[in-house]
Amino acid sequence: MDYEKVFADAIAAIQAEGRYRVFADISRHRGEFPRATRFDAGDNARAITVWCSNDYLGMGQHPTVLDAMHKALDETGAGAGGTRNIAGNHHYHVLLERELADLHGKESALLFTSGYISNEATLSTLAKVLPNCIVFSDALNHASMIQGIRNSGAERHIFRHNDLEHLEELLKAADPSRPKLIAFESVYSMDGDIAPIEAICDLADKYDAMTYLDEVHAVGMYGPRGGGVSERDKVAHRLTVIEGTLGKAFGVMGGYIAASKTLVDVVRSMASGFIFTTSLSPVLAAGALASIRHLKVSQIERDGQQARAAELKRRFRAAGLPVMESVSHIVPLFVGDPVLCKEVSDTLLNEYGVYVQPINYPTVPRGTERLRFTPGPMHDDSMMDALVAALVDIWARLGLKKKAS
Ligand code: PLP
Repeated sequence: MDYEKVFADAIAAIQAEGRYRVFADISRHRGEFPRATRFDAGDNARAITVWCSNDYLGMGQHPTVLDAMHKALDETGAGAGGTRNIAGNHHYHVLLERELADLHGKESALLFTSGYISNEATLSTLAKVLPNCIVFSDALNHASMIQGIRNSGAERHIFRHNDLEHLEELLKAADPSRPKLIAFESVYSMDGDIAPIEAICDLADKYDAMTYLDEVHAVGMYGPRGGGVSERDKVAHRLTVIEGTLGKAFGVMGGYIAASKTLVDVVRSMASGFIFTTSLSPVLAAGALASIRHLKVSQIERDGQQARAAELKRRFRAAGLPVMESVSHIVPLFVGDPVLCKEVSDTLLNEYGVYVQPINYPTVPRGTERLRFTPGPMHDDSMMDALVAALVDIWARLGLKKKAS
């Protein structure tokens, strides 16, 4: 068999659809976020502004976080040196889990090496441990949740995105005696919409289901202490599991769940993706700890982000650009074609020094390809002026649609 040809054909098919991924080669400038340097194929450097980072609040550059990481590096060295069970359970992990449990008002928390792993490991374990469990999963759930649910082998029902009636229909039709788990997100990061968390909790109570909420795109950014939309909406206590990342608004790396002591103990004791892997570097844990502690008491970053997101949406609308509806900090701009989407992104990067990655299938449905902007507190007016001028130019040049549909 010509194995190489099979691989080459698979890539050719992706290329033919215009969704072949090319990674921008960038180097962020410490303390100057969102400024960075981009290197082209010939290693030529050019200054750029990053508009699509998930370091939403710039905490990956915050002096408090960097100081904590320097201190931890000097104290403990680089890596964890083992799994949590075998020599890799560092005091920073313990402190961080305590901080996370407190952030979400839960008894306990558990760290993973990424948000992806936390979803995959927890969902696959819970839905396996509960005998005959049925999982109800939002249609737009992240790939990591889908993978976890699949790996559990449990029966699953997909409810239409944020559609309470459909969810209730499915819950009602299920055997009342079987265990049930509703899995969903708070902020859906490709559209920027937010789930009706309280109403989903009401349904969960009515049909005796557990709830699993992915707050990856909300922790640090919503709620008076950065506990996410569930904190903002005062419903955190009603959720069975809250899952989050340390890699986005907290600016570092890692994932976690917060839940009851017993539930966390089950995942800790049974989830392969938690047990059989080297634990997070204590340096990363120390940075995340500092970031969470800072955002628990500092509102400036959250306010700044909301203000800049509102300002960018306003400017896009004023310039006649097809900004999609979003009730969160995410600002999606509709293109509706994978090839054009990539062309806009390439032109922005190569000609204007503006970096925004094209978002194509399978991340979003075909025909809804878009550019996804994540303005933060450090994106100033002059950066916005340059961005809008560049987009207006390119929109005219390529004859792109002005409506988001
Ligand atoms: N959940 C959602 C909704 C996400 O968008 C992502 C994206 O990265 C993850 C989980 C995974 O988190 P992490 O990047 O920490 O692996």
